[in-house]
Amino acid sequence: MKSLKENFQKTHIVIIGSGIIGKFNALELSELGFQISIVDPNQLQNSSNAALGLLMGNMYQKRRGRSWDLRKQSIELWPQWITFLQKFNDELNIEKPLIQLTMNEEKFKKLEKFIDENNDSNLQILEKDSIFIKNINKAFQTKNIKGMISFKDGRINAISLLKTLDKYLKYKKINFLKEEIIKIRKLNNHWISTTRNNKEIKSNIVILCNSLKAVNLVDNLSHKIKLKPVLGQAIEVDIDEGEVDLLSLPKQFSIDGKNIIPISKNKLIIGSTDEYSTRPEENTFEKLTNFLDIKPSWLIKGKISKKWYGIRSRPVGEPSPIMKNLEDGLFICTGFYKNGILLAPACSKWVANEIKKYLS
Ligand SMILES: Cc1cc2nc3c(=O)[nH]c(=O)nc-3n(C[C@H](O)[C@H](O)[C@H](O)COP(=O)(O)OP(=O)(O)OC[C@H]3O[C@@H](n4cnc5c(N)ncnc54)[C@H](O)[C@@H]3O)c2cc1C
Repeated sequence: MKSLKENFQKTHIVIIGSGIIGKFNALELSELGFQISIVDPNQLQNSSNAALGLLMGNMYQKRRGRSWDLRKQSIELWPQWITFLQKFNDELNIEKPLIQLTMNEEKFKKLEKFIDENNDSNLQILEKDSIFIKNINKAFQTKNIKGMISFKDGRINAISLLKTLDKYLKYKKINFLKEEIIKIRKLNNHWISTTRNNKEIKSNIVILCNSLKAVNLVDNLSHKIKLKPVLGQAIEVDIDEGEVDLLSLPKQFSIDGKNIIPISKNKLIIGSTDEYSTRPEENTFEKLTNFLDIKPSWLIKGKISKKWYGIRSRPVGEPSPIMKNLEDGLFICTGFYKNGILLAPACSKWVANEIKKYLS
């Protein structure tokens, strides 16, 4: 084991799953010099490709505990990774600020209390006469919208991020196998990952980043892990030209839990609901636009030009995400039913530190 620590490049790590978590782990570990293989049969149809990319870190109201620590760390790590990844895509960036709005007086009081108690100049209550509130009230024909602005939070385009990571992984000549792993087992001090096509991949370390399906791989190793599916949905809505200029709205904001991203004068994205099912229902439009009691006519007349969904995994009986060293050389980093994009840097760092400890 000692020689492994001295020589990371001799350690072969297999990452199962290539959503944002698998890819970010590959980035972190490849930068440390490890030999990486990623295995995924279907990297384009996962929840990472469905994500809206909002990075809601600093506006998280519970300022203690593991969840906050991971958020805080990710907020610090993101700018460094963006600078690094811009070598592969100079357009990659985090669009700031992020605005959180509500029409519920009680929720607003909680926001006010949170801001009062935290004395963080990056978080502010939006004044009634702020340009953001004025434009939102005008577009949505509302009167009672209130909320806060976070100058440290924002949005990264998830698809662009995944493509940039692909470029990096290609540049680093990371081995990518378009295969499904159906079994993992320990053989002496190595791991053998078996693919559906009966290929065997030998490695020193395995990291499970394959969301719901991680359970299938660890069941026969007697690790008790439970994950349940959580559906997230989004729609792109086209509205009639001239009714309202959607570009007058903030670049990204949420109203009572629905995330809204205007992408042109007459097109906006709305997502996402958390539902404990695996299939979207017919009334997606109603569900995603129910943040308003009375919808403006442009929204009622709006046409869905795209809709998509993703299935995330939520741990049962333990907090999200699951990050563990399950046994010698076997790690798990999954169960991101929310915020997988936001938390990818902090969680990958956690895994890398655990691997370093394991090898020392
Ligand atoms: C509509 C929507 C909006 C969202 N918005 C945001 C947002 O604004 N901000 C944010 O931070 N998060 C957001 N999320 C959440 C975010 O998308 C997830 O937390 C994140 O994508 C989880 O990434 P992952 O890599 O764990 O899982 P996934 O992206 O689901 O990847 C898992 C991968 O494992 C592979 N796999 C499974 N089984 C195997 C196997 N046996 N062998 C090999 N490979 C396997 C799958 O093919 C898949 O590619 C959103 C999600 C949805 C659906």
